[in-house]
Amino acid sequence: MPGDEETDLIVIGGGLVGATLAVLLSQAGLRVTIVDCQDPLDGLDAGFDGRASAIAQATHRVLRGAGLWPALAPVAAPIQEIRVADGRSPLFLHYDHRDLGEAPFGFMIENRHLRRALHDAMVAEDRLTVVAPVEVAGMDLSWRAAALRLAGGARLVAPLIVGADGRGSRSRQWAGIRNTGWQYDQHGIVCTIDHAEPHGFVAHEHFLPSGPFAILPILGSPERQGHQSSLVWTERAELTPALMALDDHAFLAEVALRFGDFLGDLALVGPRWHYPLGLHVAETAIAQRFALVGDALHGMHPIAGQGLNMGLRDVAVLAEVIRDAHGLGLDPGAATVLGDYEARRRFDNSLMLAMTDALNRLFSNDIAPLRLARDLGLAAVDRLPGVKKFFMRHAMGEVGELPRLMRGLPL
Ligand SMILES: Cc1cc2nc3c(=O)[nH]c(=O)nc-3n(C[C@H](O)[C@H](O)[C@H](O)COP(=O)(O)OP(=O)(O)OC[C@H]3O[C@@H](n4cnc5c(N)ncnc54)[C@H](O)[C@@H]3O)c2cc1C
Repeated sequence: MPGDEETDLIVIGGGLVGATLAVLLSQAGLRVTIVDCQDPLDGLDAGFDGRASAIAQATHRVLRGAGLWPALAPVAAPIQEIRVADGRSPLFLHYDHRDLGEAPFGFMIENRHLRRALHDAMVAEDRLTVVAPVEVAGMDLSWRAAALRLAGGARLVAPLIVGADGRGSRSRQWAGIRNTGWQYDQHGIVCTIDHAEPHGFVAHEHFLPSGPFAILPILGSPERQGHQSSLVWTERAELTPALMALDDHAFLAEVALRFGDFLGDLALVGPRWHYPLGLHVAETAIAQRFALVGDALHGMHPIAGQGLNMGLRDVAVLAEVIRDAHGLGLDPGAATVLGDYEARRRFDNSLMLAMTDALNRLFSNDIAPLRLARDLGLAAVDRLPGVKKFFMRHAMGEVGELPRLMRGLPL
């Protein structure tokens, strides 16, 4: 239509997943437009999102491939060991990265640092345009082109639209893709804790009756480096409002009860957040001239710290098929190109959704026979070197069919 603005790719949602895809493909020569209902500068505020993300070894290569690592390396804490315990049970699973090689399992990076690195990369890229904050009115998908209608009447047109607009994705609905899932009766409480003793870059996961309680080493503030951890505390949904309403002193006492004293005296750093937890999955990742990535495609329990990792795996595969089509002068929105993406992501995503759901159901309870069975299971895994190495490679993300970026190759 006259007045339409044309581009090579439209990405709805400039969160961690959408922004990484946009940076990668603009660096590969495509003109990319990101549309977001929020101002990307809001996400740089320390009070925006208190989470830190565990980025697996294989997934961090996607961030490297997007040229983000020079900005991220100084703020990334390598995960050297993982200790998993079932409540106060003495039986626990201990992974040490040295059993596999030199590389750490992955890195803990505060989300605000990821957003900052992505923001700077987007600003530096001439072929990338950010339209935000703006309201999207709808999408028109046809065999010839995909169009995005913005509130106010402007239309953007491209061969392909990618929906990276998170769990409540409107683009998924506009594309007519059904979504199934459920809420867990749990919330994830997130905060940063300062501790007297150094964490030694060890990640801890304690399975408590209300759900996993994860103590994840972050680099922390320059004056307290190595002495701060990010907490992801899964709690029953009905108890969360009362816990969130406690004053700092009482809240810290509740944290200390679950945390234990192995890292010495504890202090609360900054505010706390809580996130309702659920699982959902779209019935397909694609529609005509349309593809879903990240939380718009799948949302999972943070029990294994895999949501963003799966989103970045989507990005690595989608960027690869689009880049290959673009490089050959083919249509990146063609059904064959998108079908390739869908086929390559289906198994990996389904497996991870099933695994996180099963782990949460198995461990978030205090039923005696189940507790005994899982404790024996943890002890058995710890004593079987072959099985243990398999789980360690899983934690590093070095499993399944890896796209070029995740093998350390250029896009
Ligand atoms: C407590 C907790 C801890 C976690 N820890 C980890 C971890 O350690 N490791 C890990 O891998 N994952 C972790 N995750 C999961 C991870 O945070 C998410 O999977 C990831 O942030 C999803 O990113 P996204 O870009 O797909 O979606 P989002 O971050 O939701 O971004 C969506 C973007 O779309 C925009 N948007 C939404 N609607 C519209 C619209 N209608 N129009 C335009 N724009 C729109 C939003 O403004 C936003 O910018 C955790 C999750 C939780 C809750």
